[in-house]
Amino acid sequence: MECIFCKIASGEIPAHKIYENDRVLVFLDIQPGCQGHSLVIPKAHARDLLALAEADLAAVMAAARRVAPALVAVTGAEGLNLHQSNGEAAGQVVPHFHLHLLPRRRGDELRSPWQSKAADSKALSALAAELAAALKT
Ligand code: AMP
Ligand code: ZN
Repeated sequence: MECIFCKIASGEIPAHKIYENDRVLVFLDIQPGCQGHSLVIPKAHARDLLALAEADLAAVMAAARRVAPALVAVTGAEGLNLHQSNGEAAGQVVPHFHLHLLPRRRGDELRSPWQSKAADSKALSALAAELAAALKT
């Protein structure tokens, strides 16, 4: 397996681990966007959210909830973002599901990845109906 996060999960390569249980591992990002930038990964390989087992996703979110208070307290953060990319088009670089935990401070350097713009309400209604129908099948 050439996956770098699988190698971290198996202990084949080192990482600055901060929490683990039988399903997930949390470690510091080696190129952090801010102090305390951490990654939560499932130990079982899954490329992205669309490939991830629901039980592993639940374990990832539970680990984020477990780690969050310590991250905020130890870094002195005032807030916390969760960030997660799926596919190269979305900016995913490492093809093993990972959830970024980003402690935030007022006025820090991090920026939202999107710019808000007004939407046409008819277009929103049509899209919501199409998606809801797709979810019924
Ligand atoms: P993404 O762009 O969402 O795929 O994010 C991948 C993240 O993994 C980046 O923030 C990298 O800095 C981080 N990363 C890559 N290799 C390692 C590693 N060996 N240990 C810790 N973080 C890593
Ligand atoms: Zn992997």
